[in-house]
Amino acid sequence: MCYAIPGKIVELQGKIAIIDYFGEKRKAINDFIEARIGEYVYAQGGLVVAKVPKKKAEEILNFWKNRFFELKSLDKRMSEVKVKGSPKFLYLIEKTTKSELTKKEMIEIIKTNRENDLKLLFETANNIRQRFHGNSCCVHGIIEFSNYCENNCFYCGIRKDSKIKRYRMSIKEIVETAKEAVKKYGFKSLVLQSGEDFWYTEEKLLRIVKETSKLGILLFLSIGERSEKTYEKLYNAGARGVLLRFETSNEKIFKKLRPGKSLKKRISLIKNLRNMGYIIATGFLIGLPGESEKDIVNNILLTKKLKPEMYSFGPMIPAKNTPLENHKQVDKNLVLKTIALSRLIDKKAKILVTTALETLDKNAKKQGLLSGANSLMINVTPLKYRRLYGIYPNRAGSDKEIDENIKETVDLLYSLGRAPTDLGL
Ligand code: SAH
Ligand code: SF4
Repeated sequence: MCYAIPGKIVELQGKIAIIDYFGEKRKAINDFIEARIGEYVYAQGGLVVAKVPKKKAEEILNFWKNRFFELKSLDKRMSEVKVKGSPKFLYLIEKTTKSELTKKEMIEIIKTNRENDLKLLFETANNIRQRFHGNSCCVHGIIEFSNYCENNCFYCGIRKDSKIKRYRMSIKEIVETAKEAVKKYGFKSLVLQSGEDFWYTEEKLLRIVKETSKLGILLFLSIGERSEKTYEKLYNAGARGVLLRFETSNEKIFKKLRPGKSLKKRISLIKNLRNMGYIIATGFLIGLPGESEKDIVNNILLTKKLKPEMYSFGPMIPAKNTPLENHKQVDKNLVLKTIALSRLIDKKAKILVTTALETLDKNAKKQGLLSGANSLMINVTPLKYRRLYGIYPNRAGSDKEIDENIKETVDLLYSLGRAPTDLGL
């Protein structure tokens, strides 16, 4: 499967490599494998992760050469703003290009429901995405390696009290799955995710990280809260990213829905992990009970403040046998508005379309990508386990073979003029 594009290092500025993709330059940190000028590399999340032999790189680039420019011009055409919107809303949107919105104005944007205003919002966000990032789209793979969890988050289908069938993948299984994702399917970035499961001791996690990071990938951990010492060791073993959402910036809601957990501690952990050198993906759930539009705006602002490499937020989907099973599911447009507003507020952001959004309906992934988002995740967990990772019901892609998921995603990206080059720093 050929869906990652190598680039050539044309300049080194200390730790930063300037990488050329068909004449387009992007920056990436070069302290993981220390590649040299003239070498072909894969970069992910702004990190040079692997060298590519010249012959192989030229083969892949040859395949991409014409397609790359075709995709670029398609993306450019598709990201023109065509709709007008109402004068008042147009004023708001135009303001975002010149100065900062007030919080009141941001809330107004989240509350908007007029069809043309929504179109204007989404088209503008998509246009900004195109201007700031070109047609790049990051594609990450995710392996869900355990559905055991010691926590009892009210929204989560694999919470401790859920009476579900549990599984743990062995270290060997995790490493083999990662190998297959990299070698067979061509992933350059993987997320290892689980409940907070301390069966995986520090020592076990270190073994997993050592074995998987040496595959030449950007390795993200999404394993919940561990001590900073453990995270530091995992960094030294080769992990470079952490996906850890703060879930909500509203302390009251956090306290209620995450019993025994502290928002302050979680935020402080995220900050400290960033200072440790980790690439951070963070964000929140949309549609938690008691949440207002103001909370959503605060969530976006907190995400921005945490300076993540990637925004990761999605709808809370009520899960069976959890305290929130009867809670109303959020409207898809609210999620799309949140993506678009995040893009207006943080023009350079990398914004993920999450599986939870994809789950809302079959057009949601495409609409997310057309509302300002530019990152995707593909589930590469073995099918027999994927079905058991029931954080929420009917997860998109949970019954499909990996090949099928990849094909669908790549076809979708091509249809939108997107190319899987790294988004750079
Ligand atoms: N245990 C780790 C990682 C696994 S959970 C942690 O909590 O950080 C990963 C994410 O799943 C959580 O951050 C949460 O935002 C999301 N999640 C949990 N329950 C969900 C639900 N019902 N709908 C949508 N997302 C959910
Ligand atoms: Fe555990 Fe994460 Fe689910 Fe909370 S959201 S119960 S920490 S898996």
